Amino acid sequence: MLNNRTALVTGSTSGIGLGIAEQLAANDANVVINGFGDADEIAAIVARLDALGSGRVAYGAADMRDADAVRALVEQVAADHGGIDILVNNAGIQHVAPIEEFPVEKWNDIIAINLSSAFHASAAAVPHMKRAGFGRIVMMASAHALVASPFKAAYVAAKHGIAGLTKTLALELAEHHVTCNAICPGYVYTPLVERQIPDTAKARGISEEEVKRDVLLAAQPTREFVTIEQVAALALYLCRPEAAQITGTTLSMDGGWTAR
Ligand code: NAD
Repeated sequence: MLNNRTALVTGSTSGIGLGIAEQLAANDANVVINGFGDADEIAAIVARLDALGSGRVAYGAADMRDADAVRALVEQVAADHGGIDILVNNAGIQHVAPIEEFPVEKWNDIIAINLSSAFHASAAAVPHMKRAGFGRIVMMASAHALVASPFKAAYVAAKHGIAGLTKTLALELAEHHVTCNAICPGYVYTPLVERQIPDTAKARGISEEEVKRDVLLAAQPTREFVTIEQVAALALYLCRPEAAQITGTTLSMDGGWTAR
């Protein structure tokens, strides 16, 4: 369905990004994955995804904290495939701490990875998309692009920034057949969520079990985690021709969290 389309998914060696890369590869797109990890494990992911569909799957090692490396990765993808049609700005990290203890380097990293990398990658990809007269930019935002939680200053600030960037790009690109949308998941049980449980327990003075029950799932009226497959299916839909008129939106998939 996406044959002859080329996609770059940032932060896709794990979690949601990997799930999206799988869906795109299974639907015959060329896919470039990115992110940290053991070289053998990454090679195994590339081989597994490559076998899913008719497109080619490769890996690009840019660190999303490095603006030049982000832009160079996009240019490399476009050079290798004659363009870039789909950009999924997914890479993201989290840190949980009260504002007065929030480490400056964590603030800088979160703003760089969760917000600025989306700016740099989009800026580099847009000329190729305009030239082709087609493009899909999918931002992995969060319920935290719409509402806040305590102790997540950098993450909430970055994700609210992503919502603004999404709307701005949608308006700039509206007449070029390039859409830009933000997916806003609630809690998805990935390594990113697993890692924040001990810090949240410490910041709130409660047990890790209480964090899962009373903090994470308490936010979601359905009391269920969102799954990677559900988020990936929405990302895939946004890349389809049927989604041509969906642009500039924040699409919630949060079990009712932001309905309150
Ligand atoms: P994850 O930790 O499973 O995956 C993050 C990916 O980003 C990994 O591939 C990692 O290697 C990569 N990455 C981290 N730092 C990087 C860097 N400097 N350069 C390049 N790659 C880097 O996390 P996830 O839960 O799958 O999160 C993916 C996105 O989804 C993030 O933007 C996150 O904010 C968002 N999100 C997650 C949830 C959730 O509950 N898990 C909810 C809403 C939004």
